[in-house]
Amino acid sequence: MQIKSCAVIGSGVMGSGIAAHIANAGIPVMLLDIVPQSVKDNGGDRSVVAKTAIEKMLKTDPAPFMHKKAASLVTPGNLEDDLPKLADVDWIVEAIVENPAIKADLYKKLDGVRKAGSVVSSNTSTIPLNILLQGQSERFAADFMITHFFNPPRYMRLLEVVKGEKTRDDAFQAVSAFCDVVLGKGVVRCKDTPGFIANRIGTYFMQAAVNEAIDGGLTVEEADAISGKPMGLPKTGTFGLIDLVGLDLMPLISKSLLSTLPQDDDYRRIYRDNPLAAKMIAEGYTGRKGKGGFYRQT
Ligand code: NAD
Repeated sequence: MQIKSCAVIGSGVMGSGIAAHIANAGIPVMLLDIVPQSVKDNGGDRSVVAKTAIEKMLKTDPAPFMHKKAASLVTPGNLEDDLPKLADVDWIVEAIVENPAIKADLYKKLDGVRKAGSVVSSNTSTIPLNILLQGQSERFAADFMITHFFNPPRYMRLLEVVKGEKTRDDAFQAVSAFCDVVLGKGVVRCKDTPGFIANRIGTYFMQAAVNEAIDGGLTVEEADAISGKPMGLPKTGTFGLIDLVGLDLMPLISKSLLSTLPQDDDYRRIYRDNPLAAKMIAEGYTGRKGKGGFYRQT
């Protein structure tokens, strides 16, 4: 199997960055998102979400595109109008909201149009492959795997991959080799466990640091001074990293992990509710992708 064309579904924090990184390697890539309800009601550009994501990336520092010309390899679109075009694509990356039911609904749509032998992979942070496959066809299961990129996709070398019991060997090998050789990632094969390797450890660490900061009455800056460089995190520290990841993703990760962890798992107590973050999310302070987060947006 050869990968000559790609599509990324979901043009948020991760999907847009993954599409840019595929384009950096000289591979054409479609970037599709939803049609916003306001556009459906009042008219306007039906591909506005993906187009806005590309425009935003061209202004972002550190740059998702290695060269501005790479942006011309990314074709923005929307799932409602452009779904049939996925019939020509070799590898489809799903990077939509961390919700198994919404992902499952999308997989059924993809399976109706994609060509035989194409591969679909999920960028899920935490949801095991066996859960993502519930209710999907045997054919879909044979062509499905997890490719978990890290944020920001151009700069983070690690890529976790998960192969399901039914995933075709040649499909798994082809996508893993493409990510290694063409995209320059350090590909690590993981068992199909909640949060795989990095997020099983990393989100526990982040959540624990947040809980300690709240219980200890630390400021965001104090907590980040301790939990950043001295503990091997990027210089952003914990709260800065949550701004980068997206505040709204954190409760979805907690929900996903809690739904899959055994009742007696010690990790469970760490994933408690955070009323401050809930209030911020409700007001649009979702981090760098929103109006800012624990730190103001520059
Ligand atoms: P995000 O909220 O920034 O973007 C999600 C995008 O998906 C939005 O543009 C939204 O409009 C779109 N979308 C939602 N439902 C859709 C549907 N049914 N069809 C098409 N598009 C749809 O989310 P994100 O942070 O980019 O996360 C995407 C995935 O990547 C999640 O599974 C998440 O767990 C995973 N992930 C996130 C990070 C991170 O740092 N943010 C890192 C690794 C993995």
